[in-house]
Amino acid sequence: MEKAYKSEEKLKNLTLEQYEVCFLKGTEAPFTGKHLYNKEKGIYKCVVCGNKLFSSEDKFDSGTGWPSFTKPIKEKNVKLQDDLSHGMHRMEVVCGKCNAHLGHVFNDGPKPTGKRYCINSVALDFEESENRAGI
Ligand code: FE
Repeated sequence: MEKAYKSEEKLKNLTLEQYEVCFLKGTEAPFTGKHLYNKEKGIYKCVVCGNKLFSSEDKFDSGTGWPSFTKPIKEKNVKLQDDLSHGMHRMEVVCGKCNAHLGHVFNDGPKPTGKRYCINSVALDFEESENRAGI
């Protein structure tokens, strides 16, 4: 019960834009997100449930206008699913815990993974840390 209550409280605190991206699979305008140019060390968490999603160590500048990562912190912390909307076949990235929409993953990323996790800033909370301890 306490857990459900907490997530309900969290939902109330979401902005309209966060709600549109996370629950209606919207996309923030490119080059507008607050995490795009963030180069601090830390962890990016799901804005809805707090699940740890990405590390600053895997963030790179893709030039697309959205925060981009080569991989999630742990494979199981995100889920991938087919997205056939807009006449395209893309792989949608959702939170592994709460299913919030995060963005999409593409196969044009840098080595070694070759992946580009293209993620909306508004779907992420950033937690600064000195190192990767606590992952
Ligand atoms: Fe989540």
